[in-house]
Amino acid sequence: MTSVDEHRARVRALISDHWHPAPERVLLGAALGRILAADVTTPIDLPPFDNSQMDGYAVRADASSGALRVTGHIAAGDGIAAFEGGAVAIMTGAPLPRGADAVVPIEAVSDAGEFAPVGSEIRLREPVAAGTFVRAHGSDLVAGTVLLASGTRLGPPQLGALAAAGVIEVSVLTRPRVLIVSTGAELAAAGTPLAPGKIYDANSTSLAAAVTEAGAVALAATVDSDDPGHLRFALDSAGPVDLVITSGGVSVGAHEVVRDALEPLGLTFGAVAMQPGGPQGLGVATIAGRPTPVLAFPGNPVSVLVSFELFLRPLLRGPRPVQWAPLAISVDSPPAKHQVRRGRLDADGRVELVGGPSSHLIAAYAGSQALVHLPVGVARAEAGDLVELWRIDD
Ligand code: AMP
Ligand code: MG
Repeated sequence: MTSVDEHRARVRALISDHWHPAPERVLLGAALGRILAADVTTPIDLPPFDNSQMDGYAVRADASSGALRVTGHIAAGDGIAAFEGGAVAIMTGAPLPRGADAVVPIEAVSDAGEFAPVGSEIRLREPVAAGTFVRAHGSDLVAGTVLLASGTRLGPPQLGALAAAGVIEVSVLTRPRVLIVSTGAELAAAGTPLAPGKIYDANSTSLAAAVTEAGAVALAATVDSDDPGHLRFALDSAGPVDLVITSGGVSVGAHEVVRDALEPLGLTFGAVAMQPGGPQGLGVATIAGRPTPVLAFPGNPVSVLVSFELFLRPLLRGPRPVQWAPLAISVDSPPAKHQVRRGRLDADGRVELVGGPSSHLIAAYAGSQALVHLPVGVARAEAGDLVELWRIDD
């Protein structure tokens, strides 16, 4: 039986062989979650000029004791003035006058926090060191140096840093287009009455959401049939995509529509030593005239998501946050398989399992916070034993 690591390596190799994202330019407002395709250097110093970190008085450190005449008033947004000696009232973010080198906070001069008028005198209680409460130009980053490296995923702090540098457009990797095809004669479309023996298609929706959350563009199709011809027709009529994920029809029984349709085209199917998600298939199919990687996941709603988490999400988005925590109760596990249970943390930080191991328990999965890993070799884990968790509730 193939191990989880072996299958993950196969998926990685399949995708990296076929997936060569080109760069595209997007405005910052459309860049959330995108991956930088090239280094971005800052064209300006951050901050761009020496400015005050406090509301207070700009002074020269070597003339900062005793009585000082107030010689000016500078607000944020004013231009850079020349320092004419004494003390200059200055607001947070305002440019330090050229020649001043320190700021004395207003609270150190006036208990009431009031500024003295220009022309009057203030008295400093003690001298101040050069650089005090000055945010020096380039102290965050110097113009011409790398602000964000190629490969960086753009979240709020990264977009904020780009905006601060005056960058309005960035080069990012095109998002992979992923076609999700749910299969099964039992599938009923959302919004239609549920006939006896039918179930609603959960997987098109959950996989499309998972793929979108991981930064790809999801396209979904449902083949409510176990006829291999219907699945082939759906794939033949699809537009160009970078990856196809199918759900269902990959086991060894009868009516295995994905296997029946795609094994003759060269996809390989077999068992991976995991639970849920054991039966898996992968390979290359021609979609819209292009060789396209295909991942065939089993159909149970928990199996598709666990398959996505183990094999695809790490490639699209990187690893989930990993945490180790003690089990609240003891649990048995099939020792020949990597079992993935669903769990929650209790008030004491211990892992409670949510629902049983069965792979149809999508409602229980929806109430969980983490995937709980019980690797190959573990037949039983006792209460208090540390288990690996992947947090899925971010
Ligand atoms: P399969 O992998 O086709 O043998 O399906 C395994 C189980 O998952 C069966 O109980 C199916 O009815 C169920 N199933 C398959 N596809 C879906 C789907 N898209 N949504 C919900 N359940 C599904
Ligand atoms: Mg089926």
